[in-house]
Amino acid sequence: MTGSITARYARWDGVGRPFCVASTSLTEPLRPGHVLVAVDLATVCGSDLHTVLGHRVSPCPSVLGHEQVGTVVGVSDEEPSLAVDGTPLAVGDRVVWSVTVSCGRCALCERGLRQKCRGLRKYGHERIDDGWLLSGGFATHCELLPGTAIVRMPAQVPDAVAGPASCATATVACTLAAAGPLAGRRVLVSGAGMLGVTATAMAAEADAEVVVVDPDARRRSLARRFGAAEVAGSIGGTESFDVALELSGSPDAVETSVRALRTGGRAVLAGSVSAGRPVAVDPERIVRGLLTIAGVHNYRAQDLVAGVRFLAEHHGRYPFAELVGRGHRLDRIDAALAAARSSPEVLRQAITP
Ligand SMILES: [Zn+2]
Ligand SMILES: [Zn+2]
Repeated sequence: MTGSITARYARWDGVGRPFCVASTSLTEPLRPGHVLVAVDLATVCGSDLHTVLGHRVSPCPSVLGHEQVGTVVGVSDEEPSLAVDGTPLAVGDRVVWSVTVSCGRCALCERGLRQKCRGLRKYGHERIDDGWLLSGGFATHCELLPGTAIVRMPAQVPDAVAGPASCATATVACTLAAAGPLAGRRVLVSGAGMLGVTATAMAAEADAEVVVVDPDARRRSLARRFGAAEVAGSIGGTESFDVALELSGSPDAVETSVRALRTGGRAVLAGSVSAGRPVAVDPERIVRGLLTIAGVHNYRAQDLVAGVRFLAEHHGRYPFAELVGRGHRLDRIDAALAAARSSPEVLRQAITP
């Protein structure tokens, strides 16, 4: 990297406090294996909203944001960083990157559970005074660390469609991978938010028959446009599904998902990411029905690759671009978060720094 770059970032100082846009001059050469990216568009994920509203404990001050697409503006001269496909990254590459940074050496990484690395760091979820300032997407620039899965985003995918790839799309790809083969299977999707409609489109493209359950009528009609064969406000105790994808996080929906499975069925839970009541399952049904219940958290590099490939190949067939609102400027980030809270019909608010 040559010359000096001024980066601006939205600092989050804690629940109930406004964001503060600050700037920093980047004059030092990039450290080995680090990549500097100019953020073109970031989207506000539900978990950013949970953080700001105090529904989950998050370190602060911090730079939030972990769904974004950007352009590489600096690579280390000493040790260039590689994309997931093994090719060196270069200035000008359009990229998305994983939410997590893994060490690659600890016992969990060695076992193939890099998404749960013992030394895990997460974009948009780090204290600023920890030696890593530009760690989130709500900024003009983000510094990518070694151990990040970086994937090039094909030019035909618009920014608004590409932004959610690194959280929503990759998480759904991981959920579907855990669900096993989908062709010809009857699949229940619980929750028609960003993850739910993405899962609906991905499962429909995999030739599944997808039934989407959501209490909100607007979201049900959205799910139809993403390939749902049927939609419902609720389902009874019918054992008629081969796969149940639980993306809403509702304990009731978790119970329904397991009850809805027929023999050999598989429930994949990805929505339950905050404390909820314990759920009731009937172990005899699990035993006699040969059922499997799997959990998915974070995701693997190959899931981000699969998510990007899906968007590149199929985004034109589904109204992904309509899910994202018009971009707010970085200094209007408080308005973006307020809109995310007050306009749930827009599944993602965007920030264009
Ligand atoms: Zn590790
Ligand atoms: Zn997220």
